[in-house]
Amino acid sequence: MVRAVVGANWGDEGKGKITDMLAKESDIIIRFQGGSNAGHTIINNYGKFALHLLPSGVFYGHTTSVIGNGVALNIPYLFDEIHDLERKGVPSPRILVSDRAQILMPYHVLQDTYEEARLAGKSFGSTKSGIAPFYSDKYAKIGFQVSELFDEEALKEKVSRVCEIKNVLFEHLYHKPPIDPEELYATLLSYRDMVAPYVCDVSSYLHQAIKDGKNILLEGQLGSLKDPDHGIYPMVTSSSTLAAYGAIGAGIPPYEIRQITTVVKAYSSAVGAGAFVSEIFGEEADELRRRGGDGGEYGATTGRPRRMGWFDAVASRYGCRIQGATEVALTVLDVLGYLDELPVCVGYEIDGQVTKEFPTTVKLEKARPVYEKLPGWKCDIRGIKAYEELPENCRRYVEYIEKELGVPVTMVSNGPGRDDIIMR
Ligand code: GDP
Repeated sequence: MVRAVVGANWGDEGKGKITDMLAKESDIIIRFQGGSNAGHTIINNYGKFALHLLPSGVFYGHTTSVIGNGVALNIPYLFDEIHDLERKGVPSPRILVSDRAQILMPYHVLQDTYEEARLAGKSFGSTKSGIAPFYSDKYAKIGFQVSELFDEEALKEKVSRVCEIKNVLFEHLYHKPPIDPEELYATLLSYRDMVAPYVCDVSSYLHQAIKDGKNILLEGQLGSLKDPDHGIYPMVTSSSTLAAYGAIGAGIPPYEIRQITTVVKAYSSAVGAGAFVSEIFGEEADELRRRGGDGGEYGATTGRPRRMGWFDAVASRYGCRIQGATEVALTVLDVLGYLDELPVCVGYEIDGQVTKEFPTTVKLEKARPVYEKLPGWKCDIRGIKAYEELPENCRRYVEYIEKELGVPVTMVSNGPGRDDIIMR
């Protein structure tokens, strides 16, 4: 059975925690898109980890962690993560890297950094991890697949060909030093040695695993609203964040994805630029940011303070629909226990008209939030294990959201730990 864990919002919904929890009953956990630009924070008995490339299942002895072909593979970064686990005493995980995954090159990081500097105030708020140049090159057909590392002659030739293109940009657009093809070639050979023990024909491996009835988890990064097609383009990420892409980014048939567990955050947060209708500011935002997540809402990769907002039913319903959500995990509900009332954005007012449909970016920029207020529960709900034991106003909030989303909320997360979960 294949199940996807994906986000309905702007990312940072707590997918890592839900994946880590579901990984207990899984055999294989796969990253199918994105790269090291976003991180999952996971807290368990080994300590606190910020994972960027490794799937959130690496902490269990019985799981296999897979980097699918859809991922932007930063090889040295992957190795740093593996070493960090070893240092903190996590049993050596079983890791497979797709031979069709493409390699995030050192020049992608440089290009991303130079481009953000060139755009200055008009930048996208990139994490400068090289993700956008990486995916641009992949589709421009000048990317490098892992498999190409193993043919030295062809590799050397391609490196010098690609450097020619990159160096035009580096010298004439960015006025930076050119890339040395010899040095890059040597770097790639060192990457080859690092990745060699893990390389695998992943789609074939998964074909067999599905046949054998294994439990497989696809772990998404970011959320629906950062999808390049269905999100807030151009303030999006560069690979699809949708469960449907799991089939492509892992190499499995789309109809094998039976369950789409969509993670929805009980309030809103976002990083980077772009319209954010239910955004709040000032002391109100600072307080939610301080209390949010686990120890505050700051980016797992960049440490940047996240933008904060109230729950947005318009965006979240759309986010669930575009994921094809079969169930919802509602997270960080515990954070909201301090509020007297909870505003919920139930509509967007655009040019004097109120809509409940999530619009394209041009219209989204003009949208103003229409709020409804729900009463708060004014207590700490951490430690509660049964849904019926939640305060009445808290249940009311969950059920209100469930009705707005039109998808059953099967899990309520009331703390950052593995066991802070209420199953309904
Ligand atoms: P992801 O990228 O979707 O995995 O999200 P992040 O890991 O970036 O952000 C989620 C943050 O919230 C992390 O710091 C988690 O430890 C934390 N977290 C997850 N679920 C809960 C929850 O139910 N309550 C609280 N308080 N924190 C949570």
